[in-house]
Amino acid sequence: MLIDTYSRVATDLRVSLTDRCNLRCTYCMPEEGLEWLAKPDLLTDDEIVRLIDIAVTTLGIEGVRFTGGEPLLRPGLAGIVEQVAALDPRPQMSLTTNGIGLKRTAAALKAAGLDRVNVSLDTLRPDVFKTLTRRDRHKDVIEGLYAAREAGLTPVKANSVLMPGLNDDEAPELLAWAVEHDYELRFIEQMPLDAQHGWKRDGMITAGDILTSLRTRFELTEEGSEQRGSAPAERWLVDGGPHNVGVIASVTRPFCAACDRTRLTADGQVRTCLFAREETDLREALRSDASDEEIARIWREAMWGKKAGAGLDDPTFVQPGRPMSAIGG
Ligand code: SAM
Ligand code: SF4
Repeated sequence: MLIDTYSRVATDLRVSLTDRCNLRCTYCMPEEGLEWLAKPDLLTDDEIVRLIDIAVTTLGIEGVRFTGGEPLLRPGLAGIVEQVAALDPRPQMSLTTNGIGLKRTAAALKAAGLDRVNVSLDTLRPDVFKTLTRRDRHKDVIEGLYAAREAGLTPVKANSVLMPGLNDDEAPELLAWAVEHDYELRFIEQMPLDAQHGWKRDGMITAGDILTSLRTRFELTEEGSEQRGSAPAERWLVDGGPHNVGVIASVTRPFCAACDRTRLTADGQVRTCLFAREETDLREALRSDASDEEIARIWREAMWGKKAGAGLDDPTFVQPGRPMSAIGG
């Protein structure tokens, strides 16, 4: 098991497959992009599968989420999914993507064994999308969302981050669209993980703001947090159901006490938390012929040191050196 000193057990593994991206969301990356990880530093497909194998067979991981950067940019994605699907026990597998390219790949990913996807959709307005992501690709994202549902990568969740002065008036519109098209909508509070360090606590749109805005158009009934109790989205039934909406309030209502996550970066570092300032190197162990037992021991030891909380709302909070796109959101 991956247990820490606060008796939390990690059963959910987030794997970043690349730090590269074809969008430049203002809350994530600067316009000019970032200095990407060098190819030799990235884990190979086989190294990724080996680490997931150890996590699943030895460390009690039950679910794997592929992310990035943009995971659809990883050429070997379908092959990685296929190999992970063949593991025993087979973990639940999902993917967080900006949706660009999903139209082309959704069916193959489903066939390879992917269970479901989360697609980021911050706006229904193409012009706002272009301002927010600095790319004119809104149509591709919507097509990707349609393709995901058609391929059976369900339930498809749509993730939205609201930014002041850009799309903060769109919450009800996004929810109406998600209900109409049968997507599960999750709003995520903007977190201090942008490479430019532009996040401001005072300016951010809070869960409270989002709920107030949604209630101008919908009746929301609190449903409690998602099944396992440890998933971060607090959920509300929309107009009595069956659809629901979730809000992931990492800043204003942190869920660290129930966290069940461990993270692996594209260059083979274990992170105990999105906001951790320390990492533990597994790549070095992999490349110096360490046994599975030794790698599992290093991973366990890293998780044992997991901090109680991220302290986002604390004035002494210091943003981690690695931005969201290189950690894997
Ligand atoms: N590129 C993929 C995507 O956008 O879905 C996967 C990686 S992205 C880092 C994962 C999620 O993190 C996305 O839903 C994105 O909106 C969210 N995200 C990125 N930066 C964020 C920030 N500063 N605060 C909150 N969420 C953020
Ligand atoms: Fe790319 Fe996702 Fe970051 Fe947007 S949030 S720039 S899509 S990694």
